[in-house]
Amino acid sequence: MRPANQPTKARVKNLSRFSLALTIPLRLVMKFGGNAVSSVERIRHVARDIVARYVQNQDGHRPNHVVAVVSAIKGVTDDLIQVCDSIVRGECSRVESLTKSIEDRHRSIASQLCNNESYASELSSIVDMLIKEMNDLLRGMMLLNEVTPRSRDYLLSFGERLMAPMLCYALKDIGIRAEHLTGKDAGIVTDSNYGDARPLMDTTRLRVRHRLIPMLEQEGVVPVVTGFIGSDQHGNITTLGRGGSDYTATIIASCIDADEVMLWTDVDGLMTADPRMVRSAQVLREVSYAEAMEMALFGAKYLHPRALEPVLEKGIPIRIRNVFNPDCQGTTILKSPAAYPSKIVKAVTAIRSVSLIDVRGSSMVGSPGTAGRIFNVLGDSRINIIMISQGPSESSISMVVRRSDLDNAVNALELNLLGRLIKGINVTDDVAIIAVVGSGMRGTKGVAARVFGAVAKQGINVIMIAQGSSELNLAFVVEDKHAEDAVRALHDEFELDRINQ
Ligand code: ADP
Ligand code: ASP
Ligand code: MG
Repeated sequence: MRPANQPTKARVKNLSRFSLALTIPLRLVMKFGGNAVSSVERIRHVARDIVARYVQNQDGHRPNHVVAVVSAIKGVTDDLIQVCDSIVRGECSRVESLTKSIEDRHRSIASQLCNNESYASELSSIVDMLIKEMNDLLRGMMLLNEVTPRSRDYLLSFGERLMAPMLCYALKDIGIRAEHLTGKDAGIVTDSNYGDARPLMDTTRLRVRHRLIPMLEQEGVVPVVTGFIGSDQHGNITTLGRGGSDYTATIIASCIDADEVMLWTDVDGLMTADPRMVRSAQVLREVSYAEAMEMALFGAKYLHPRALEPVLEKGIPIRIRNVFNPDCQGTTILKSPAAYPSKIVKAVTAIRSVSLIDVRGSSMVGSPGTAGRIFNVLGDSRINIIMISQGPSESSISMVVRRSDLDNAVNALELNLLGRLIKGINVTDDVAIIAVVGSGMRGTKGVAARVFGAVAKQGINVIMIAQGSSELNLAFVVEDKHAEDAVRALHDEFELDRINQ
């Protein structure tokens, strides 16, 4: 694995602000989110003020080894998803207008990004080639009026594939050696679960090391890798789920034994609540892997829920940093945080756009395997159940699913179980899951009383409750229109606006 002279994990903990004082290279994976790279100025800023600063190690010591991972420009993946929906509905003019705006945006950035003329023309021809490939694919999809999971992933890949060359050429333009690669080129091999693929880590490790380590160690090149995408064993492009660029960064970090992963985004770090919901939300200096994972699972959208898996075992720290405020230290996610030992709750999160399904039936009472049959039916229809609760009477089971899965879920239950195992299905289609997260909740008495007391004081009705046995979170469901009030009430109750005082 790493040569003996490489930094140890103990040294990494002492990483100074820009690692400028270290004489040996650190291996860093830096991921840039869609908002960080959404204009010519922002891409140049990322290249010059962030990547170059770490690569060059301005004290004149040996440079750091940096792998950059980029997301699509903010909104582009959403637009490509809309393109898919429009293809299915046969809305040709909508497909054209959406793709035209994606093309124009990228062509315009490509034409302004580089001062060096030959780089400018190379970049423009790469962008042209990708746009041609995208249009060829779109023609096929429109001809068939069909979007398969495979063609959808192929289409969604263009957001990141158009972005990676941009950052690469912005780096070249300021004299940094760089090469752009897709996740597939970089060696990320996944299963064929399109839309939510998982890496096959053993193969991926071998391939990523083989591809990236010589670039870092011998060629002195910054690999600029597309986030979000890999390829299955047959070479088809797959995507890793929404927000998957975080996952790409941690997969690569684990493969190359990185010293640190930096997730550069548009907020100062992981916060006590979504800053768009709670104005007084504070940046957390440190959180544990377990807490960050709970927060990600319960809707703090800043992080892909599985992104921590690849780095857990090796204990590689993740830092969340703000590209617009690079001097702020952000949040470090690590095994054993030292900050806030006495805090019971560290964050309040909300999952919006979810629906509640209640299934009931007297034949469910005392009948072993009932829950299993219901979950199998939903699992076979590829519906992810986010939260489950069964009352002690066993005559009903409540489940929360994404609103986009609701129709399929209800259809599957009706077709397979209604009239037999279950007698009725009730749906509340506009709910939100609110969760409080913090390792200090474990074994602490009275947390639930405080949570539900604070919510009741706002006159908000709690529809369903669940707490995992890890006691790292307490989650409950309310009508969506009460979500923001509930989050604010809990933020106040646990005085999270004063967490850093
Ligand atoms: P990126 O494109 O950089 O991956 P995302 O949009 O995926 O960025 O995630 C960052 C956003 O997550 C922030 O702009 C913020 O509004 C939102 N967010 C939600 N909950 C939190 C939280 N608890 N802490 C920080 N950001 C949060
Ligand atoms: N572009 C992808 C998305 O919007 C991946 C990412 O941004 O991390 O989900
Ligand atoms: Mg993200």
